Amino acid sequence: MSIAEAIRSIRSTLPEGVELVAVSKFHPAEAVAEAYAAGQRTFGESRVQEITSKIAALPDDINWHFIGHLQTNKVKTLVGTRHISLIESVDSQRVLDLIDAESERAGIVSRVLLQVHVAQEETKTGFSPDELREYFRERRFEALKATHLCGLMGMASNTDDEARIDADFAAIADLAREIRTMCPDLRGFETLSMGMSGDYPIAIARGATLVRVGTAIFGERQ
Ligand SMILES: *Cc1c(COP(=O)(O)O)cnc(C)c1O
Repeated sequence: MSIAEAIRSIRSTLPEGVELVAVSKFHPAEAVAEAYAAGQRTFGESRVQEITSKIAALPDDINWHFIGHLQTNKVKTLVGTRHISLIESVDSQRVLDLIDAESERAGIVSRVLLQVHVAQEETKTGFSPDELREYFRERRFEALKATHLCGLMGMASNTDDEARIDADFAAIADLAREIRTMCPDLRGFETLSMGMSGDYPIAIARGATLVRVGTAIFGERQ
């Protein structure tokens, strides 16, 4: 299946209100251009160096999402591109506060998701649900000056056990609801980014508004 066919076939399964993020990491700019020609405008990348060079090489109306672990020493470069429409993978308050400081310095407002860790693997990064509860209970977000918290991003356990995957996505969706109830004045905390090639239909059933799909569009990564 071509990239264009894959995009069309995935899009045809997405309900109203669910947006497709085409995860193009490790694939060349030509692959992104092919998806762009098929009408795809939102792309996800996981490395600062790679997203920076793709931004320079590709059309200006692409919505770039950063989805990888963000090292503190790369925040300035990422924000400085001024071309990131959503940083999905904010996994610590330290990184969040740095994004805020760099965005203020650059005179922009960064839109971000907080990455929550619910999966069983130790290796996955993100806030724990309790860290997030504490962050919002203490209303620490009120200190942000140039950052808009748009919602949560999360991954399910890496398993074939669909019940486990479903429980992980349900936990992320429940946490988002809990945060909205705790802070009813929090504006626009609506985005729920969950689901990848292997599990996005389960994520959609649990309320995902963004799905991040790589392999099912571009094939295996080198
Ligand atoms: C690579 C990646 C994806 C895409 O995974 P596929 O299985 O190729 O669809 C989605 N989300 C994150 C955070 C990723 O790093």
